[in-house]
Amino acid sequence: MTLETVIGVDLGGTNLRAAQVAASGTIGHRRQEEVDRDYAGAAFGQLVDMVDTLLGSSETRPGAYAIGVSVTGPVDPITGWVDNPYTLPPSMQGDLVGSIRSGLDRHGRSAEEMSIVVENDANAAAMGESLFGAGRDGEVVVCVAVGTGIGVGVVVRGQLYEGAGRTHPEPGHIVIDPTGPLCYCGARGCIESMSSATALLENARRAGVVGEHGTARQVHEQAQSGDPTAIALVHASHQALAQGIRTLVAVYAPDVVVLAGNARSEDPAMLAIIEQAVLGYKFGPPRVKVRSAELGNWAGCIGAAALARRLEVR
Ligand SMILES: [Zn+2]
Repeated sequence: MTLETVIGVDLGGTNLRAAQVAASGTIGHRRQEEVDRDYAGAAFGQLVDMVDTLLGSSETRPGAYAIGVSVTGPVDPITGWVDNPYTLPPSMQGDLVGSIRSGLDRHGRSAEEMSIVVENDANAAAMGESLFGAGRDGEVVVCVAVGTGIGVGVVVRGQLYEGAGRTHPEPGHIVIDPTGPLCYCGARGCIESMSSATALLENARRAGVVGEHGTARQVHEQAQSGDPTAIALVHASHQALAQGIRTLVAVYAPDVVVLAGNARSEDPAMLAIIEQAVLGYKFGPPRVKVRSAELGNWAGCIGAAALARRLEVR
């Protein structure tokens, strides 16, 4: 048993979560708040306050902490720098690692034995699911989070698959239909632009299935109640996602594919359709298992904490 307190933090566009995470992946004290978009204090002040509160309630050896932070969108895991004006407010930009150190220092906490890891949210969630969730028996685990976007994290024998310079590959932007809609990634018809909840909702609004303030959940409800246009849109979204994941299986040859994200829980048919598409693929491991994520909203915290703990051990 380690004496260090390990905290996992998940900074999303809407919610900020933090928890004390044990070596077994179970979470103890936890906190959750909406990201305060008008926060006027120090950089990452809301996050630092939350970590400080958790340390206060769970510290086992003063001054010895490991903190792992899962961050939505562009983040540099080497410098700990966050540059995401797309989904994070001004108070959550810049030097995250430095801000945690100086912030905890202001709270009177010694930072001498503190290690801090910052990771992309898709990677952190994939790490959590592959170590402690639906992929814990997997050798190569591909975790696909379907929601506002398509976030993909790949864990190979317990290690994150990373690009050159520790960049986060973006397989969610693999093109599956060059005649498809234009994505902010610059391509047409990538997996995200064809099958994210955002894409489904946009198509449904355009087709008049839901109004301007409709939600993806409502589109699924319309489909389940028999609306033929909604059924066709959901079907097209499923087919695009299935093709995308089949491509990921061809690239990574996983033995487990984990489906995560809000869209998964709103869409009970998704799992079986993906499974069917993946089983039709002739190469790779003999039986690719397609599963729902098990750690829910806390996967990012748990995965980030595991990465921080690992750094501590190294
Ligand atoms: Zn794209």
